[in-house]
Amino acid sequence: MDRSSISQGQLYDVVVVGAGAVGTALAWKLAAEGYRVCVCEQNQSVPESLRLDALSHPVLSLFRELGLLEVLRPVLMPLDSVAHFRNGHLVKGTSEGPYVVSYDRLVESLRPRLVKVATVIWERAVQVSVQGRIKSVRLESGQVVCGWIVVLANGAVQAGGVDPLTEGPVRTICPEYSRTFSWDLEFEDTDRMTHPALVFQTTHSAHGYHALKLFDLGEGRVRANFLTYWSSGDKRRRELLEGDALSVVARTVEGLIPYAGPFRMMSPIEETVADLSQPENPEESGIVSAGDACGATAPSGPLGLRKGLHDVRVLAELMSRWEREARTGSEDLSAYYAHPAKHAIDGETLARSVRDRKVAIDWRPAWATRRLIGDRIPDWVEAAFVGSAVRQSLNLARQSRSGLDS
Ligand SMILES: Cc1cc2nc3c(=O)[nH]c(=O)nc-3n(C[C@H](O)[C@H](O)[C@H](O)COP(=O)(O)OP(=O)(O)OC[C@H]3O[C@@H](n4cnc5c(N)ncnc54)[C@H](O)[C@@H]3O)c2cc1C
Repeated sequence: MDRSSISQGQLYDVVVVGAGAVGTALAWKLAAEGYRVCVCEQNQSVPESLRLDALSHPVLSLFRELGLLEVLRPVLMPLDSVAHFRNGHLVKGTSEGPYVVSYDRLVESLRPRLVKVATVIWERAVQVSVQGRIKSVRLESGQVVCGWIVVLANGAVQAGGVDPLTEGPVRTICPEYSRTFSWDLEFEDTDRMTHPALVFQTTHSAHGYHALKLFDLGEGRVRANFLTYWSSGDKRRRELLEGDALSVVARTVEGLIPYAGPFRMMSPIEETVADLSQPENPEESGIVSAGDACGATAPSGPLGLRKGLHDVRVLAELMSRWEREARTGSEDLSAYYAHPAKHAIDGETLARSVRDRKVAIDWRPAWATRRLIGDRIPDWVEAAFVGSAVRQSLNLARQSRSGLDS
């Protein structure tokens, strides 16, 4: 089949659905290698997102490898500009280390590069289908774009049910894994925002685990992201959403009030529920998925981008082979889904996600002890915990689709 026979839509080498961090990095990398790339993205500006990412050294190295680190530099905030409190005590304020960046600024600094090298269509994809060797993406307006390869980088798929784009089944690993609440606030005493970012972690067993991250937006305004593992019926959740945020946060986040004092709410609270989920047998759909679309991760640490950028690396390695093979109708997507490097990172990411939740809310003695010991636990003990948590979660996910809480 050649270009002229595609009556419905233009044919690209690769069509990427979603221009979040992973879709943007992938499209940039492939376009830089000479592929004709089209990206379909539903949001022209990135919503001021809940996701304020800690970028670890491995993530920075991956961005460097992709040639994107210099582009990101202006929005990176070194960790020594973050005051970090654990259980009410300042634990870090000056150390060198990973970086913090707001997700919207990260993606918005990458996208202008993308529009120079790829075709970007600002529209929502509504359906993806495979017609022989050609894959097509139908957009909301009815326009169709086609590619030899289609990569879904459209973010996490909701647990349970069916992927709306591929209509393939989605496996639930842990429904309602965590909840993040986000709002703008103003401290009564504006001088208390002493650093561009303040992070308050509560890790001990009396309160479970919470992380409140505060980012200075300038002119006295502060963005709050409050990560919890509360269930939908948790009394504190209801109180927080019903307007008593100050007292709930003051009670549960140790160190905040002594350090920064009371605050006023400056916006309604947004609540985001993260499921751990992944498409079931994705290689059967004939469509490639990457980043969160290929398996959601814990939002509490720098796991998501690490996993997503590894997907980019593996895809870039396989792309020339696939593009050649797709034209002859024989590409083998299991080379990606079962790729040893991808397998290792995906497994580690899932293990860490499961571990984080268990450390946060599991009240059995082993996990309660782990919570109390905190970061002082030796690596080999940690590895044993993580290994058993993952085995257990995979077994549960296999046995029942209802996940870790069952
Ligand atoms: C509260 C929270 C905190 C987090 N903190 C961290 C952290 O500190 N460090 C870290 O590394 N990770 C963190 N993560 C995870 C990280 O944000 C994700 O792993 C990462 O954003 C995944 O990138 P992505 O490009 O795969 O998906 P996304 O960033 O979700 O991007 C998907 C893109 O696809 C677009 N899209 C969706 N559907 C369609 C459609 N039908 N048509 C067209 N476009 C579509 C969306 O508009 C979006 O732009 C956090 C996540 C959350 C929720």
